Amino acid sequence: MTDLVAAVLVAALIYGTSLAIWPYTACGRCSGAGKRRSPSGKAWRPCPRCGGTGRKERLGRRLLR
Ligand SMILES: [Zn+2]
Repeated sequence: MTDLVAAVLVAALIYGTSLAIWPYTACGRCSGAGKRRSPSGKAWRPCPRCGGTGRKERLGRRLLR
């Protein structure tokens, strides 16, 4: 039982460290491009989901704020 608790703690520590180093993931709407292309493929506008940044805060980081 204590082994399981220790394993969970270690996993949480590793996950927390990865959140600190890599707080963002790619926006799901634009795949991290930050652009929404028109059907022609030439014109584009900033992605409304991420505001053109192409990034999304990871789940763990949103929960910790
Ligand atoms: Zn986006």
